[in-house]
This record gives sequence, structure tokens and C-alpha cells, in this order.
Amino acid sequence: MKATLIGTGTAFSRRFGNTNTLVENAGIDLMIDLGFTTPGRLEDLGRNLREITHIAISHIHADHIGGLEELAFLSRFVFGTRPKLLLPRGLASDLWEHALKGGMELVSNDEGEPLFCTLETYFDPIILDDEWKNLGSLNIRAFANDHVPGKASYGFIVRDSESADQMIFGCDVRRRLKELETEPIEPDFARGPIFHDCQLYDDGPSGVHIPFSKLFSYPQSVRKRIVLVHYNDSVLHHLAEIHENGFSLGWPGNVITMPNWRECIRKKPADCTL
Ligand SMILES: [Zn+2]
Ligand SMILES: [Zn+2]
Repeated sequence: MKATLIGTGTAFSRRFGNTNTLVENAGIDLMIDLGFTTPGRLEDLGRNLREITHIAISHIHADHIGGLEELAFLSRFVFGTRPKLLLPRGLASDLWEHALKGGMELVSNDEGEPLFCTLETYFDPIILDDEWKNLGSLNIRAFANDHVPGKASYGFIVRDSESADQMIFGCDVRRRLKELETEPIEPDFARGPIFHDCQLYDDGPSGVHIPFSKLFSYPQSVRKRIVLVHYNDSVLHHLAEIHENGFSLGWPGNVITMPNWRECIRKKPADCTL
């Protein structure tokens, strides 16, 4: 299993881009979220939207879904593909009705007449309930997290059932991940990275992203697996503190392979000029 951190910043980061990750495993190219900076950043890394076969969506904020319209139009009208869209049950209608429909419902057919579309016109939706979905040897499970009060929001556990590789994507959270309270449930899998939201002190309190100080209350066994993402542009001032306290930091462009994932994030990618 391989993960490429396409971006690692907050929604408003100018330097680090949207926190979205490309997971590659057994012929599947899966984006964990697809925000507005990601189509361009994929190309900067020598990749392309055309390669994306699957997209999992954590919640409806632009830094997580803002690239979907571009992917949808290119897939439908240029690539001739219909990517699979992995949607937690709580987002199944909201993504279309409250986010995508305005720009994507009405298009033109070849005769220049109005053509009404639905989510299924562009994507092959796969609804994720609270159980594992098996896509060959790639297994994915969504879990509810706590981001904006009352707003449906999820994280994901992604596994390779053959190698027992596992990565956890907490996505946007304002509190510790409940999912980690019972770790390690299955020790074979409890060794991979946990990509975790992190609000640095100088952000000011947002109320919907967990402050860095709150992450210290995770047990050391969890802390040493945490890779901080979704941080603001001042992160460069906090590097010593982050590493001294046992956390890792994900850099845009990091390519993370299992099982020695820590080696992959020990330093900035050579071509990262931040
Ligand atoms: Zn976000
Ligand atoms: Zn968010």
C-alpha cells in the first residue's frame, strides 16, 4: 500500500494545499477527499485526475470536495470514465443536494439542448455503512468523527487484507478520535500511520479543529503513529516541538510506503521547496 500526501494544510493554507491523500493499492487509485487545490497539485507531482479510479469523501467542505466538479466534468466529457465515489451513508444525498447540484445538474447535450444530470451521471456511488467495504484486497471502512457540531463527518480506515497494511485517516476533527480509544483492537493492523488533524496555537481557536495540545493526551502507543496534517502555514515554527513530543509531520509530496512508513516522512521530499 502506498499513500502520496497531495496536500497537508488547512482549508486556507496557501503553502501546503488541501489535506487530501492518494492511496494506491492493487490497481486502485483512491483519493481520500478531493479539494479545490488537488487537481493542480496532482499535476505538479506528475499525476493526473484521469488516474483516479475511486474517491472517498469525508465531509462537505470545499477543501475536501472542491475538486469534484472538475473531476466529474472531465470524466464525463473528456475521459469517458465514471469514477467510483465512496460515500458514507450520512453524505449520500447531501453531497449532491447541498454541494454539487448547483453546478452540475444542468449541462448541454451534443445538440445544444439542456441535459439534466444526477450524481449517478458522473459517478458510480458506493455507499459506506458502518462495515468494511472490500474492493479486491483494498478494504475501507468509514467511521463517524466529530468536526462541526451537527454536521455529518467521517474518517476512514484503509487496509490491504493480504499484507495487513493499514492507514487511518482521521480527516477533520475537533476532538480526539473515538476510533482510537479502543486501539489496538486487532494488533496485526495496529502499526500503520494515523493521519490526524492539528490546529497549531497561533491559529486562534476555531472550535472545529483539534488543538495540538489536546493530542498530547493520546497514549504514547498512539502518539508515535500520528502524522500531523491539516496544519496552518506557521507549522515551520513548531517543528522542534512536534518532533520532541513524539509526533510526525506529513509534508506535501511525501510518498509513504508500508511497512516502514516512518522512514518516508522523516524529512521533506527532496523537491519540496517550502
Ligand atoms: Zn478541512
Ligand atoms: Zn472541514
